[in-house]
Amino acid sequence: MDSIIPYGKQLIDEDDIEAVVKVLRSDFLTTGPLCREFEEKLAQKVGAKHAVVFSSGTAALHAAYFAAGLEPGQQVITTPITFAATANAALYLGGVPVFADIAPDSFNIDVTKIESAITAKTKIIAPVDMAGIPVDIDPIMQLAEKYNLVVVEDACHALGATYKGRPVGSTAHMSVFSFHPVKAITTGEGGAVVTSNPDYYERLVLFRSHGIVKSPDKLMHKHKGPWYQEMQLLGYNYRMTDIQCALGMSQLKKLDAFVHRRREIAAQYTLAFQDNNAIEIPAYSADVNPAWHLYIIRLKEDLDRDRVCYYLRERGIGTQVHYIPVYRHPYYSYLGYNPEEYPNAEAYYRSCLSIPIFPALTNSEIEKVINVINRIN
Ligand SMILES: *Cc1c(COP(=O)(O)O)cnc(C)c1O
Repeated sequence: MDSIIPYGKQLIDEDDIEAVVKVLRSDFLTTGPLCREFEEKLAQKVGAKHAVVFSSGTAALHAAYFAAGLEPGQQVITTPITFAATANAALYLGGVPVFADIAPDSFNIDVTKIESAITAKTKIIAPVDMAGIPVDIDPIMQLAEKYNLVVVEDACHALGATYKGRPVGSTAHMSVFSFHPVKAITTGEGGAVVTSNPDYYERLVLFRSHGIVKSPDKLMHKHKGPWYQEMQLLGYNYRMTDIQCALGMSQLKKLDAFVHRRREIAAQYTLAFQDNNAIEIPAYSADVNPAWHLYIIRLKEDLDRDRVCYYLRERGIGTQVHYIPVYRHPYYSYLGYNPEEYPNAEAYYRSCLSIPIFPALTNSEIEKVINVINRIN
């Protein structure tokens, strides 16, 4: 049987492999010089002052909510159409995820629904750049200003995207990226928070490594000797290894080329599907230039998604549903969330299907995907 084209996958070249092997022969496998270097390059790339790398995007979200000062019982407003981690990270800190529905013609949170969800307990707004299409962040930043909230953008899909000409990563208080193999660039597992706020930066760094402080000028107790260090807050071991950072730096050099190829593929799909009445293609504002982490089609009402999914699979085309709305997971149902409160997310969930898009996709594979999808009925 022919292999199935996945919806996404990494692209690793010989120079990536060489970069990793070089670290394996060096003195530092972790907590060496490469993480600082990777952080500086990443921050520069996205137009932020600081980047802090973590062992995963999920760890990075956890740290960002911590740095924002989320206290037990406080609320995080986010979208139900995201990976569960966006909401889970609030639960880790005793926080409460509050879902605001998506807009009807979009994959992203409805900004007007955010304002009506704000209460005295709200601390964070965590919008997601679903599929790599940047959320309309300016009005969200205005809401944050008005109600004194922190905006943590889950930009795990959007490394390389721009909003009104500005890079994603430069527009929120903190933005979170993931380097999982299906994402824009990979470190195997990994993630980062970028910010231009020095206080958040300091808390992120502490949280990543047990809350332990070493630099003499930051110690709370009297300095005892060069060996002395103290734990000032409850942190974790969320560090990224130098092995991963070397891969990340090598991959980061290719980010522009990767995103360029994703945009080419998206443009081909959009052109090929615009007259197809069985599906809807992604809509987005002229203000943004998406990074196209995913290419999500929506099937018209009378098409059964499972049947289409099997139909494509039998013809060698892998698909995925991004995402099961977070409130629908059994764990969240148990917490009391009710699907009826999110009609747009429900309609989206019934019809969405992610089709293959990744830099290594070949022209003949793209042609095959287009031909098969244009025969769906
Ligand atoms: C991938 C992803 C995460 C989590 O990242 P990991 O690196 O897998 O922990 C969080 N949010 C979104 C939207 C993601 O796509």
